[in-house]
Amino acid sequence: GMLEIYEDIKPDLKEKVEDVLFNRHPNATDDLIDFSEQFKGQSNKKDRNDLSWREKSLGERITHSLVHGITEYIDKDTEEARAGLGRPLDVIEGPLMDGMRVVGDLFGSGKMFLPQVVKSARVMKKAVAYLEPFMEEEKKKNPNQKEQGTFLIATVKGDVHDIGKNIVAVVLACNGYKVEDMGVMVPCDQILKKAEEINADIIGLSGLITPSLDEMIFNASEMEKLGLKKPLLIGGATTSKMHTAVKIAPHYSGPIVQVGDASLVVDVCQKLLSDKESEQYHRELKESQAALVERFNEGRANTKLTPINEAREKSPQIDWDQHTLEAPDKLGLSVWENIPLDQIVPYIDWSPFFWTWEMKGTYPKILDSEKYGTEAKKLFKDANKVLNEIVKNNRFSPRAVWGLWPANSEGDDVRLFKGSDRKETLEVFHFLRQQKEKEGQPFKSLADFVAPKGYEDYCGGFVVTMGPEVESYAKTFEDDGDDYTSILIKAIGDRLAEALAEMLHKKVRDNWKFGLKENLTQEDLIKEKYRGVRPAPGYPACPDHTEKEILWRLLDAEKNTGAKLTENYAMYPASSVSGLYMQYPDSKYFNLGKIDNDQLEDYAKRKGKTIDEMKRWLAPNL
Ligand code: SAH
Repeated sequence: GMLEIYEDIKPDLKEKVEDVLFNRHPNATDDLIDFSEQFKGQSNKKDRNDLSWREKSLGERITHSLVHGITEYIDKDTEEARAGLGRPLDVIEGPLMDGMRVVGDLFGSGKMFLPQVVKSARVMKKAVAYLEPFMEEEKKKNPNQKEQGTFLIATVKGDVHDIGKNIVAVVLACNGYKVEDMGVMVPCDQILKKAEEINADIIGLSGLITPSLDEMIFNASEMEKLGLKKPLLIGGATTSKMHTAVKIAPHYSGPIVQVGDASLVVDVCQKLLSDKESEQYHRELKESQAALVERFNEGRANTKLTPINEAREKSPQIDWDQHTLEAPDKLGLSVWENIPLDQIVPYIDWSPFFWTWEMKGTYPKILDSEKYGTEAKKLFKDANKVLNEIVKNNRFSPRAVWGLWPANSEGDDVRLFKGSDRKETLEVFHFLRQQKEKEGQPFKSLADFVAPKGYEDYCGGFVVTMGPEVESYAKTFEDDGDDYTSILIKAIGDRLAEALAEMLHKKVRDNWKFGLKENLTQEDLIKEKYRGVRPAPGYPACPDHTEKEILWRLLDAEKNTGAKLTENYAMYPASSVSGLYMQYPDSKYFNLGKIDNDQLEDYAKRKGKTIDEMKRWLAPNL
């Protein structure tokens, strides 16, 4: 598994090893031992120093560099190809694309993984950068030369997440597309203006938080108004085929495709732009989307929602006298600065890091996985190298603000008080209650986890961030054409922010006394075995992102951490985490699910907002 790309193992060696592994004949072991005699005394580090591939044909050398992510010789080989072929575009469309096709095939058949592809892209980029001055020169002489397909990609207004988007951009660039990446928080009018300016063949929109879904609907409607017919790609964590079919597609008559996975994007784009296939593909898309709409409507007809008043009567019945409610040592607001990065590192949950790279599994098991093991190990090694460098040079500036206050639930609200006399209100958080019937289950709301009036319960919140340096540091690599390291840095920034949330929660539970008795391992923390919960607004139990406005005011979070909220309540910088604290011992994270209009009206009233406004923020749950 530590060797190399499987297909690259020398055939005679591969056969002998497979004979042993698959027990293909009785002499397999002896044969392999005999065979190994000829390598006695040879260094096992031959890989790095073995330059025999440099003696192969030019095309094979370029492919080798691309497949193995080697940047060292690419300028030299590219120049040789240019000198031979004459036109720079012929180099791109010839040997470079041939090499990238090999990468694409290996990726498509599961023999290479995303981190390797991104490294290949780095080599491709370097080669293209080398050719750029020659292409400029040629353009001056012949302004009408043909271009490859142009792809415009952006994270929509109000959203700041771009790791997935960057990976898609790289994968497309690898496959010969000209990619214009507009970055994050891009308003619709700018996207459309740019699309016209560069005559984009395809527009791709990305978003992570649920309000971005609405922003995508808006973008689609604006494209329709302009009479555009360009294909629109939808991607990002909260997007789905169902949402795209039911909520976005009806607003746009051009082709719309939701792409849930970077490894699928090339195939989709090829179909969309192919003279032969595009019409048929557009028809298929419309048909499958119509089928999804039908399924959605059937599902809706069959979903029974309980009236909110009845759901409240059937809420979890908690006997608060049965529980010891602990009082925190320190109440009120605390700011935590100068947090040493090396103390945060042990709290990192690595599994989501591998998911970012589309390697499904859990850490540390994934390192030994049959499918991903080899590449997961390499990726993990690269990540740790970057992480160590970040820690050693203090590259990020972790900051945290948190607080706990006396609190009681009041129906589905939770009221926080300024003082222990519980007289003057500090802030009120608003929660929603499940309305979808599930046999034998009460209808839950996070408000149930805070004791009502008459009990001395507490509630709190926090915001942590890794600071603006995550982005600026990543950018130095991006500017240098090194997307791989740039993406690694951002992914590590996110991991450290989550880890700091975990570390801070431990500190808060200790302050709240019950933490001192808990004795949990890091693994237990990842499995959320601690007492209480730290629900995050925008997550399934409390999907309303606008509650972050209250949290930010409560903690004076922008002043205390530098982290801001965008107009759609995404946290900026992206490597930031926020949430609330509750201590109820039997509390668990749950999913709110669908709610009905009766609760929407009641909720809007409780929040002092209009029904129309709340309808927009809660759209995914309505
Ligand atoms: N260890 C993970 C933690 C992030 S996801 C990581 O490093 O990425 C888990 C966090 O999301 C929880 O700690 C909680 O803050 C929040 N969360 C999870 N499920 C939730 C739910 N159903 N409702 C509200 N918040 C939830």
